[in-house]
Amino acid sequence: MQILVTGGAGYIGSHLVLALLRAGHDVRVLDDLRAGHAQALDRVAELAGRSAEFVRADVADVPRVVDALDGVHLVYHLAGSKAVGESMGFPERYFQNNLGGMAGLLTAMRQVGVDRIIFSSSAAVYGAEAEMPLSEGATHGPANPYALTKAQGEQMLAWMAERCGWSAVSLRYFNPVGADASGRIGECCAEPTNLVPRVLQALTGDIPHVAIFGEDYDTPDGTCLRDYIHISDLADAHLAALDALERPGHHIYNVGTGRPYSVREVIDGCSRVAGRPVPFVRGDRRPGDAPVAVADPRRFADDLGFRAERGLDQMLESAWRWVTENPRGYAG
Ligand code: UDP
Repeated sequence: MQILVTGGAGYIGSHLVLALLRAGHDVRVLDDLRAGHAQALDRVAELAGRSAEFVRADVADVPRVVDALDGVHLVYHLAGSKAVGESMGFPERYFQNNLGGMAGLLTAMRQVGVDRIIFSSSAAVYGAEAEMPLSEGATHGPANPYALTKAQGEQMLAWMAERCGWSAVSLRYFNPVGADASGRIGECCAEPTNLVPRVLQALTGDIPHVAIFGEDYDTPDGTCLRDYIHISDLADAHLAALDALERPGHHIYNVGTGRPYSVREVIDGCSRVAGRPVPFVRGDRRPGDAPVAVADPRRFADDLGFRAERGLDQMLESAWRWVTENPRGYAG
């Protein structure tokens, strides 16, 4: 089956492309390389033993996307901006990149008659007051422009399904971490803000220490709880989601493990894996952080038989291997 992956040169995209190639699919990647890395696709080709086609283009560029859709059966739409903090400073960038980009993609798909799409959404669509664990029906309340673009992207797909008979899936990612077991592909970002990359930077000496954002939450050790999922499990989840496209309509699934870990547990896990203590300091709460965010993963398991298999140690070991074997990321 010919598949188009937008954002396929990024962190999640490269792991997805690897999983799709290994499963025997023909893959074309559309990426403008603003955040992605062409080298990631070279390494994916080494690992898979064959290549994805690559088209360098912006997803909002309708004529280029129309060309890229030639022969395509379905689209995984991952392209977009994803830094919550940046979205608070530059909301319009998120409206342009995420909503404008998606509108361009949908326009191109409609023009050529491709009507199946799997969308990279986020647990950020849930409101702070939603009950834990988060089921797909939990209250919405996007707390920043990034989250708003994910919630609205889902709504666009609901309308495409309702009005145009499309089959669409929105995957609400929880906290993806880790890297392919080979250590050849991983998360490559100059100034990461997420917990695990920051902890690893503190371990390698790229930053003097990581700050723990709040130790006075109403949680067992006072630090926030999150549902971390191995990037390779997340990639596999995208393959499991293919079956949902057999049913018309818009289908929403949480992609998490249902097992939360605290910031302290993640730091301890990284120390274990690296064999030395993580330099950290106690910081203030980060504005907008929910004390707990954990998925109820049952709908995905019940409908499609998907369960995440890899535990925290595997996530952190693979992430550590990636950073130690590629100290300059894809730069060498
Ligand atoms: N966190 C932290 N220090 C950091 C980065 C993150 O203590 O340098 C905490 C953050 O407050 C949250 C958890 O780690 O409780 C996960 O944050 P991340 O930004 O990775 O993901 P989020 O759940 O916010 O999307």
